Amino acid sequence: MQKRATRQKQVISEVLTTAECPLTVHEVLERGQKYLQTLGIATVYREINRLSAEKALRVVNIPGDPPRYEVAHHHHHHFKCTICGAVYELEGCLKEINRLVPKGFQHQHHDITIYGVCRDCSR
Ligand SMILES: [Zn+2]
Ligand SMILES: [Zn+2]
Ligand SMILES: [Zn+2]
Repeated sequence: MQKRATRQKQVISEVLTTAECPLTVHEVLERGQKYLQTLGIATVYREINRLSAEKALRVVNIPGDPPRYEVAHHHHHHFKCTICGAVYELEGCLKEINRLVPKGFQHQHHDITIYGVCRDCSR
């Protein structure tokens, strides 16, 4: 039993660390089941909640979409394709972003999602 639980956690962690974009719980489940057919949705939820509580995962909330999760690494932003719905990673940020913040206000953090049409859908 213990061994099986460990294997499930390993698979979930593998899926999240190798993902090219943030994943929904169902995407983690689908990808995980390729390695471990018996992986269940309850385990994926539990593990994602645990990793989020530990701040090992970051939640990416795009209005109207289910939450997506990604390994909490460096600061970056996202691009959402309005045709296929895919979410892409965007590297880097803009120093100029601070110019949006009025004098006397403190910038703590921000989330940016750019909406548009991805390369595949532009063809
Ligand atoms: Zn697209
Ligand atoms: Zn990301
Ligand atoms: Zn930024």
